[in-house]
Amino acid sequence: MQCEICGADIPGASTRITIDGSALEVCKSCARFGKQEDKFSPVPRKIVPAERAFRPVRKPKPRDSFQDLKEVVPEYGHKIKEARDSLGLSLEELADRLKEKASLLRKIEREELVPEDEIRKKLEKELKIKLIEEGGAERWKPGAGTRGLTLGDIASIKKR
Ligand SMILES: [Zn+2]
Repeated sequence: MQCEICGADIPGASTRITIDGSALEVCKSCARFGKQEDKFSPVPRKIVPAERAFRPVRKPKPRDSFQDLKEVVPEYGHKIKEARDSLGLSLEELADRLKEKASLLRKIEREELVPEDEIRKKLEKELKIKLIEEGGAERWKPGAGTRGLTLGDIASIKKR
């Protein structure tokens, strides 16, 4: 019988230990590397490194089901109202321009309703504002992302 860890011949009875759920026949000096099986609890508990155990779990974005759905900025209602005010448009006038109901726009401004893509695009165009989070496919655009792009970066992007 050879020790499954160090390969040494085991003179007497081998010691059966478990390491991370797998059983090994080892010599006495290697027994300290694992838990002796007869003391081992029937439910194996994996040892999670402390660092990983305490790191907050970040949920991946459900990309598949929301492929075309961009995230609307959290303060969209405020943004719309601000832009509308600066253009001197009333809610009704804006609704008229967009061929939408004023009541619908009011709900959007109050952030009771997240604008659909179609309405959002119309609002963005009419008010010249951005209502979606920068990021994803648009990250390369100047001013977006975590660091600003230089003209050199843009030139090299265009070359590719
Ligand atoms: Zn050994």
